[in-house]
Amino acid sequence: MLPKPTRRTALKGAAAAAVVVGFDPVGRAWAVRGSSGPFDEVPPLDGTLLTDDASRDAAADDYGHIVHRRPAAVLRPGSVDDVVAMVRYCRKRDISVAPRGQGHATFGQAQVKGGLVIDTATLDHIGAVKNGRVTAGAGVRWSTLAQATLEHGLTPPVFTDYLELSVGGTLSVGGIGGQTHQYGAQVDTVTELQVVTGAGEFVRCSRQRHRELFDAVRAGLGQCAIVVGATLRLVTAPERVRHYLLPYDDLHTFLEDQRRLVEDRRFAYVEGQVQADDTGAFRVYVLEATAYGPPAGPEPDDEVLLSGLRHDPSGVTAEDLDYYAFIDRLGPVVEQLKEAGLWDYSHPWLNLLLPGDEAERLAGNILAGLTPADVGPAGVVLIYPLQREELCTPLLRMPHDPVPYLLAVLRTCPPEDQETIDRLLAANRVAYEDARDCGGKQYPVGSIPFDRADWRDHFGALWPFLRSARHRYDPDGILVPGQGIF
Ligand SMILES: Cc1cc2nc3c(=O)[nH]c(=O)nc-3n(C[C@H](O)[C@H](O)[C@H](O)COP(=O)(O)OP(=O)(O)OC[C@H]3O[C@@H](n4cnc5c(N)ncnc54)[C@H](O)[C@@H]3O)c2cc1C
Repeated sequence: MLPKPTRRTALKGAAAAAVVVGFDPVGRAWAVRGSSGPFDEVPPLDGTLLTDDASRDAAADDYGHIVHRRPAAVLRPGSVDDVVAMVRYCRKRDISVAPRGQGHATFGQAQVKGGLVIDTATLDHIGAVKNGRVTAGAGVRWSTLAQATLEHGLTPPVFTDYLELSVGGTLSVGGIGGQTHQYGAQVDTVTELQVVTGAGEFVRCSRQRHRELFDAVRAGLGQCAIVVGATLRLVTAPERVRHYLLPYDDLHTFLEDQRRLVEDRRFAYVEGQVQADDTGAFRVYVLEATAYGPPAGPEPDDEVLLSGLRHDPSGVTAEDLDYYAFIDRLGPVVEQLKEAGLWDYSHPWLNLLLPGDEAERLAGNILAGLTPADVGPAGVVLIYPLQREELCTPLLRMPHDPVPYLLAVLRTCPPEDQETIDRLLAANRVAYEDARDCGGKQYPVGSIPFDRADWRDHFGALWPFLRSARHRYDPDGILVPGQGIF
């Protein structure tokens, strides 16, 4: 269970719009003078409701720096009860609500104009590690969670490349990483969710209890409920890993070898990058593969692990790393980007899931047209295969192919360069349509202009399921308008 601090009410920053004159015990609300805003009768809270400009401006931005929608208030919940109380409050008044984890969406997905943003960072409780499981508040970052479980020699099985994302934020999209071919996405490792529905009800759901809600929330883009906590399956953590970078000079061999590795599962982790050569052409392919050592696997043996692969043997690098240093290897890079001011660039990201049998053609077309300017000074291009049989979460939409490929063109450009942002968004749309026409999907963490018809197409056969779950669990349709689905 998540902690419940002593009950106390705070309304901060309201002075600009209103004066709090006291608590009305009969109406159980703060009496406010001089406000015509939507939050003039908030219920008693354990946490804080912020209406000051700085808090609202911060919630009107995200890692993309492309979309800006200003909420009327930001809730820092002091308890799950606060989330319940404010969802009920907003529901009565037809105010939209969006939970926000670490704000690393790129296209306004956690923003809500004139509504309430719930900053989940205060839902940061981590429960005991017991029976190979742990329960974490939605606002816990994966870095903190990993450090806590590693004290017990255990680890969540799947990580995103960057660990400073919230548990609730990645479970609402899926959470894909180099271990996905072995364990599915992060949503596939959840055994129970604790949620507050759009109707303002606290519910525990799992495969056994409230299955429909469980399936509607995992990778459900926040459309039916707010995740307040999650119970996750853990696996034995290795102490050290061997991390290989294997260069290739042609896309076909690179993709084939990647596929071979996810099929024979000799590595715990498989990803890959495409880099520009000296002429600016994206045709340097680097397969990234990691073997886990004891107690999660045998001592890594180069001969066994690399046998049959067709990389350029002269350019191989192999590095033995402490497990946490491996999963957090982007951490130091991010610090450098922050120091260089590049972390604050715009991120008009393109994230696609390609059918395996079309991956070479579709990725080849995108890469052939790509220039360093389309990726920007801090951008990266990733491509790696997944195993469809491990991906069991219905709303995490995948191409119908046993080995789909994730292609991520993680673009960066100066936030004031609107012309380039518009050009890259248009290019994202074109790439999406090409992929879609061959059975591809978007992985919805990026910046692809999408309308309601696109969403219906995206969910396909599961659209009636999502629509009916939305109707049932968020009957007034107040949750997460920034996704643009309903
Ligand atoms: C540097 C970087 C690297 C990344 N690498 C990967 C990767 O390797 N693999 C991968 O899969 N993704 C990756 N992502 C994408 C990331 O997983 C998603 O953008 C994720 O949603 C961000 O989490 P957040 O806590 O910042 O969520 P936010 O941006 O705050 O929210 C994202 C969406 O989820 C909703 N949401 C947030 N919290 C909750 C909640 N508690 N309940 C219900 N809905 C909620 C929001 O309303 C919003 O719609 C990366 C992102 C960045 C910036």
